[in-house]
Amino acid sequence: MRKVILAVSAHPDDIEFSCGGTMFKYKESGYDIFFAVATNGENGFKIKHKPKAERIKIRHKEQLKAAAILGVKEVFFLNQRDCHLEYTESLRSKLVKIIKAVKPDIIFSFDPANKSFESINLNHRDHRIIAEAVFDAVFAARNRYAYPGNPHAVSFFHFFGPEKPNFFENITKYIDSKIRLIEAHRSQFDDHDSMSKWVRSHLSNYTRKYKYSEKFRIVEIKKPFVMEDCDDKSK
Ligand SMILES: [Zn+2]
Repeated sequence: MRKVILAVSAHPDDIEFSCGGTMFKYKESGYDIFFAVATNGENGFKIKHKPKAERIKIRHKEQLKAAAILGVKEVFFLNQRDCHLEYTESLRSKLVKIIKAVKPDIIFSFDPANKSFESINLNHRDHRIIAEAVFDAVFAARNRYAYPGNPHAVSFFHFFGPEKPNFFENITKYIDSKIRLIEAHRSQFDDHDSMSKWVRSHLSNYTRKYKYSEKFRIVEIKKPFVMEDCDDKSK
């Protein structure tokens, strides 16, 4: 089995907050990890007093720093506008291109089924949009004709931010490492101790089974009967 993960986020720091501990766990078990970050995160309010170009530079730098701590193979920046992400043909095409290039076995991204609108942060429009675009790109990447490049079939979605989780990953061993990843995004918080406490208290609440965990909705993607299964047979 291939051991490749592609984690796709809307903003720099989404992956670290949602599944940073799990990333360390997979990395340790031999997975190659790639990140794709849709927007530049330039509207993170802690740094809005700086010019836009500088804000983008800072957020890219922080994302690359976190990726280096984890040992990510490559970070793909899709350079979309923060808070203005749109589901376009161009966005889906970029995602398909990355999937066909890195050939992941597992994709981590926001759960497109979570439309609870219970959290103004979690149900952020950019999160909802990237969730659906990633889901559709995985489908399209299996097809030989929809986009250039050989088809690739992803085996699993590990959706983070689920309303109905079906799996809790025990990350107790990796809690300090996860916090180090989040710390790389210095522009997003002033007070290190409060952030660290907030993360620990959140991750200790998901399940009684583990001291700290991250939650997912894991979906196995059935192998296509033929790789061209989304081709329009009427043509
Ligand atoms: Zn986000």
